[in-house]
Amino acid sequence: MIDHRRLGRELDLFVSDPLAGAGLPIWLPAGAAARHAVEEYVRELERRSGHQHVYSPPLGKRELFELSGHLGYFADDMFPPMRLSADDEVVLRPALCPHHALVFRARGRSSRELPLRIAELGGMYRSERSGVLGGLSRVRAISLNDAHTFCAPDQVGAEVVEILRLIRAAQAALGVRPAGFRLSVRGPAGRYVGDDAQWSYAENLLRGALDGAEYVEVPGEAAFYGPKIDIQIVDAAGRESTISTIQLDFDKPERFDLSYTDSDGSRRRPVMVHRSLVGSMERLFAYLIEVHEGAFPAWYAPVQLALLPVGDEQAGAAAELARRALDAGLRVEVDVAGSLGARVRDAARRRIPYLGVLGSREVADGRLALRLRGGRALDPMPVADVLALISGQVAARAADLLPPG
Ligand SMILES: [Zn+2]
Repeated sequence: MIDHRRLGRELDLFVSDPLAGAGLPIWLPAGAAARHAVEEYVRELERRSGHQHVYSPPLGKRELFELSGHLGYFADDMFPPMRLSADDEVVLRPALCPHHALVFRARGRSSRELPLRIAELGGMYRSERSGVLGGLSRVRAISLNDAHTFCAPDQVGAEVVEILRLIRAAQAALGVRPAGFRLSVRGPAGRYVGDDAQWSYAENLLRGALDGAEYVEVPGEAAFYGPKIDIQIVDAAGRESTISTIQLDFDKPERFDLSYTDSDGSRRRPVMVHRSLVGSMERLFAYLIEVHEGAFPAWYAPVQLALLPVGDEQAGAAAELARRALDAGLRVEVDVAGSLGARVRDAARRRIPYLGVLGSREVADGRLALRLRGGRALDPMPVADVLALISGQVAARAADLLPPG
């Protein structure tokens, strides 16, 4: 049984210290390096598709979350408010949407700005019971890859199609195993905001966006404020779970009185689309650690290249080569301690994708003998070619350690 908590300890990715608190793991340097690479990738993907990134604080005034409805509907999952004075309370936010609604509202908006895509990889908090917490899969402090698109009703369909494209791209790059989609619509019993026509319209939009994709429809699973698409994945043990969602929302634009000026000068209410491409960094890494058994694709491996000088005489050359690799943007380490065999085994245990062994002949020739994770050894190559090969695979965010062909 592959357990991300065990692998997280063995690979020094994160630590759960009882003194820090249950569900409040600390990312160690190796885990942080991997996460940083993934965060950069996701931000770049979003930026290229027209998202604008913001920063907003992980806590806010009580009134903000009364207005958003979170304190009314969601208080059980939130930490109790902190009282600063008789009329001033702040709460740790359970979602980013209220702040992003304020971003939309920060000035007048025109239809020419729509769809307006506001993205943030931001912190939020859920007061999960201590019994369900463990490792990274269930935490109380959550770092969510989140965005809210504010659009005209007739833009929603194209927006959802684009979001699905981004989700597929991110899953392919990260090595996530997709398991289709779930469309959550109204049920006969639930209470929902908005009128019937609006709901039917929204549900049909999502059906249209999913046209041609593998999905199941689940009545009664919609949020009270709109239908949603759950993005399903399969874990290492074959179990299916939801990693992220796309949610249509007619309620928050109403609550926050959001509006834009249409081309004819009239004021219109935007639709809000909540979406996450890869979910929270914590859940995502709990999954990635298990599905890859800690052997991440090179582009987000904590250390991409380990350099092993055979003897002390090659230590200087290894240090110089490490400097070149660093300058080429790679995460590199020189390992000199212990026998060569022990160092090779340690690099394998740590799932380091590329190992460069420097013997006296390689140093004299300006070459490097590369070994790939998994044990395959390549013939010695000029150092510049090795760096170009690794940088190329990293830049392409390739799943394999060698280019095709
Ligand atoms: Zn949201």
